[in-house]
Amino acid sequence: MTDRPPAEPTAPTEQPRPAPEPAGGEPACLLHLVCAECGAITEQRPPATCWRCGATVGADAPE
Ligand SMILES: [Zn+2]
Repeated sequence: MTDRPPAEPTAPTEQPRPAPEPAGGEPACLLHLVCAECGAITEQRPPATCWRCGATVGADAPE
């Protein structure tokens, strides 16, 4: 384990900025978990095999 320095230097501000959080909405991280063939959502991390139709989920075209 190594202690990594923060990416950004801590600015000495007296007023902290609250991180803006998106209110509601569906997490985009689920989009790549949806089978493009049958619409089933896999519980595994992509790339995974669809439990319903057997298609490969989350294996988009390589960049
Ligand atoms: Zn499927």
